[in-house]
Amino acid sequence: MSEAPGQTVCLFVESRGRRCTAAPRGHAALRLRRHVRPTRATEKTPWLEIPSGRIATLHSQTGSLPWISGSCDSFDHALGMVETIRYGHRRYLVLVLREPDEFRINGLVASRINLLCAGDVVDLGGHQLHVSLRNIPYVGPPRSEDLGVSCGYCRLKISDSPGMRIYACPACGNIMHDQTDEVEQLHRLECTTLAACCHHCRSPVTRERGFVNVPDFVT
Ligand SMILES: [Zn+2]
Ligand SMILES: [Zn+2]
Repeated sequence: MSEAPGQTVCLFVESRGRRCTAAPRGHAALRLRRHVRPTRATEKTPWLEIPSGRIATLHSQTGSLPWISGSCDSFDHALGMVETIRYGHRRYLVLVLREPDEFRINGLVASRINLLCAGDVVDLGGHQLHVSLRNIPYVGPPRSEDLGVSCGYCRLKISDSPGMRIYACPACGNIMHDQTDEVEQLHRLECTTLAACCHHCRSPVTRERGFVNVPDFVT
């Protein structure tokens, strides 16, 4: 199933030598996911994706890896609630803990309501959760909603002329021309190459899906 372009918050799970199984059954849509990077060192690194646009719950139990549930019905048995929020072009994770004294964030005792950004670390005791962002850019022919939009670099309007390709910034949705050698060089619009970063939010141009930051233990 192809994923919608954009940016999501995710949590890399670091275990402290404890033998764990996957998350319990019953959370198929939001269960533990496996790292998608193709290197052997990282492909088995578990990470959790935070669903966008709604509140979810964070769970953990002895002998299993932490997991995220999209159902708030299970809050009574959860460590707390998580929700992605957006401020400007940046995404943050709000973590509301039931028992904040039991956990640490970046080495300090957690608060009941915590605002986390990429690079922050939540210590659950047996596991550490490393906050990261995952990019899913759009690269391809312009979609219907892109036609007539001004390119974020050259300001020319996006058209559906032959060979037209665009790049949509996963962080902010800004559109830029991204034509390849299918188009004669003299007429080619290579705005992503020239710009190197999104002129709207300053995120680097990355045509492949991946994580904004990967914790040291993964590499
Ligand atoms: Zn352009
Ligand atoms: Zn952007």
